[in-house]
Amino acid sequence: MQKRTLLYEGKGKKLYTTDDENALISEFKDDLTAFNAEKKGSEQGKGALNCQISTQIFKLLESKGIKTHLIKTLNESEQLVQKCQIIPIEVIVRNVATGSLTKRLGIKDGTKLAFALVEFCLKDDALGDPFINDEHCKLLNLIRDDKDIEKIKDLARKINTILLEFFDSKNLRLIDFKIELGYNPQGELVLADEISPDSCRFWDKATNEKLDKDRFRQDLGKVKMAYEEVLKRILS
Ligand code: 5GP
Repeated sequence: MQKRTLLYEGKGKKLYTTDDENALISEFKDDLTAFNAEKKGSEQGKGALNCQISTQIFKLLESKGIKTHLIKTLNESEQLVQKCQIIPIEVIVRNVATGSLTKRLGIKDGTKLAFALVEFCLKDDALGDPFINDEHCKLLNLIRDDKDIEKIKDLARKINTILLEFFDSKNLRLIDFKIELGYNPQGELVLADEISPDSCRFWDKATNEKLDKDRFRQDLGKVKMAYEEVLKRILS
């Protein structure tokens, strides 16, 4: 499958059209951004690591009955994916309080939450991806059917349950993550985008060492080594 024209360039990926109108090529970039792209950097090989990590996670989820946009991996940094209408909602699932949750609600960093908290942000860089609720989703017509809000929450919780067990077996704590969903060409609700250390927080089970993009956000160094460690553990 050949790349044709660049359809979209985001912060972490480029999407190209292909000869199949229902399929795109997703190329994972080495760029790193944080704080709504106010902080920018790059790490050679980061895109390939994220592509491989995300591929493994999407395959795991598919094997557990979660529909995803992934058709196949083409090489170490490119995937062939279904062309989806992406729902402009960032769905965040949190198991442990950290990041923006601690700042917003004053919960002590590292507090284990009583249940997996599902939150929505509007995917809009110009507005700084503001937090929204179910009614905002309906008001802004972000979804095709109002019932899809509950479906999205169920899907997010199901994905969390599968990933919590999987990463625990790899000695990683899944602290929180962000997913994006879309409608595929058949109109089905599917998991899209990526699941990687760019979009998740992973802490080492024994030491709570951060093994994700917080290393870049907080200038902790060894960003690539952390992503390599996550891939190594996933493949072990
Ligand atoms: P927080 O709201 O604490 O900044 O982020 C919660 C979780 O969602 C973290 O795992 C973070 O990586 C992810 N997340 C939130 N917003 C974005 C975003 O715009 N892009 C990506 N890749 N991940 C995000």
